[in-house]
Amino acid sequence: MQSKNPYSTSMQTLFIKNIITDALDFLDHTEFALPQSDKDKALRILKVNTNANGGSRAGRNTIVININGWQKQNVKNGKATGQRKKFKASKYKKNGYVYVVEYSSYTDDPKCGGMFVKIGDVDHANLITVLHELSHYVQHTLRHNNPDSFLNMKKPHGDGFKQIYSALREQFCNDDLVRAIYINSWIELADHIDQIFDQVA
Ligand SMILES: [Zn+2]
Repeated sequence: MQSKNPYSTSMQTLFIKNIITDALDFLDHTEFALPQSDKDKALRILKVNTNANGGSRAGRNTIVININGWQKQNVKNGKATGQRKKFKASKYKKNGYVYVVEYSSYTDDPKCGGMFVKIGDVDHANLITVLHELSHYVQHTLRHNNPDSFLNMKKPHGDGFKQIYSALREQFCNDDLVRAIYINSWIELADHIDQIFDQVA
C-alpha cells in the first residue's frame, strides 16, 4: 500500500500522538506519572495548528501544537527571523543549523534550553515543541490532582516545569542518535496506523 506524505496534517497529528504516548509512558517511571485517564485525555485534547502566525500552548485542558510557526519557518529556511537581539551572539550560531530558542529565562540551560537544529530538520523542531507543551500539560495536571505535593508546578516556566521538561528532553531529544531513532519509529508507526485505518474504512 502507498504511504502518505508524512508531513500532511493528519500524518503529523499521528506522529505527535506517538510522541505524547511514549513521553507519558516514560514519565510513569518518574515522580511525574499521570493516571491513565489523564494520559488518554492528552491525546483527546491535542490540536495541531498549521497557521504560520499561530503559536503553541498547553494547560490542563488544552494542548495546541503549531507545526508551522516562526521557529519552524526558520528551521525550514535556515533563517533567524524574529529572534531576540541576544541570540545574535556567536554562541547561538553554527553553520548549517538554526538555534531554536526556549523561554528567555532558561534558554541557556544545558538540559532543557535552546537547541541547534539542522536546517530542514522540522521533526526535531516539532519534537522540541511537543515535549515543551506536554510538560505544561503534565505540570498543570499534577498540580490539579495533588495541589499540596506539587507546589513547584505553579509557575509556567518554573522549577517544576523545568524538571519535567528536562527529563523528557534528556530521554527523547538531546542526544542526536537517540533522537533520530525515536523520530524514525514515530514516523513509521504513524504510517502503519494510517494504513490500518485505510483498511478498516
Ligand atoms: Zn511554555
